[in-house]
Amino acid sequence: MGILFNDLVFGPLQSRRLGISLGVNLMPKAGKICSFDCIYCECGWGDFQKESGLTRPNADAIEQALETRLKELHGTEIEPESITFSGNGEPTLHPQFPDIVDRVIRLRDLYCPKAVISVLTNGSRIGDNKVFAALNKVENNIVKLDGGSQACIEAINLPHYAFDLTEYIEQMKRFEGRLTIQTLFLRGTHNGKRIDNTTEEEVSLWIGHLKAIKPRRVMLYVIERATPEQDLEKLSKEELEDIAEKVRALDIEAEIYA
Ligand code: SF4
Repeated sequence: MGILFNDLVFGPLQSRRLGISLGVNLMPKAGKICSFDCIYCECGWGDFQKESGLTRPNADAIEQALETRLKELHGTEIEPESITFSGNGEPTLHPQFPDIVDRVIRLRDLYCPKAVISVLTNGSRIGDNKVFAALNKVENNIVKLDGGSQACIEAINLPHYAFDLTEYIEQMKRFEGRLTIQTLFLRGTHNGKRIDNTTEEEVSLWIGHLKAIKPRRVMLYVIERATPEQDLEKLSKEELEDIAEKVRALDIEAEIYA
């Protein structure tokens, strides 16, 4: 069982990486919709049969819910520092994502102009020009890169489409450094297969991708909550710090969350 968000707008929550963060969930309350099915996803395993019957909230409903909440929060101590697209799945899969981004920018400018807009994305739709243009309008894109080799990333993220790592990296390069990369480091097994994105080889390939993408920041994580795959190991802070040092050696900011 995973945790699903029940509201279109949730929080604000105090986030270690985003400060006071108001979440915007573009996905259904009843289940996850995602192009990946990560073995560590806090929403739990995806369910394709269920997914096809789920209805996403429309842009009007999201705008109304966000405006109501921003009015309530305006001028209070918990006025958001970030309006954050996250929730039950991949936000860029919403067919109205570009329109919703424009509406969220308008409301941010009106009610909390100092807040940044953040998008937590798995990067699967950056190749769509409308999605890419929308992402370029926000200040804080946080894109997933969970390993160095195609095989390792596929084993961790379980993409539902013909994932091509070379293409994925090329799409990230289009941001010209205006993005943050987030990586969850883990070891474990899934369906009898050993998974480890912390090996020397994986980390070295991952570092090579960072050199090509040149992100402004890298966030390194470990497992924090219950995961759908039970057989996963949480890394120590020291191990994560060792990997972060390799990122800093590239003159890229690295933050660890362990
Ligand atoms: S990309 Fe995010 S929402 Fe999608 S399966 Fe992975 S962790 Fe879950």
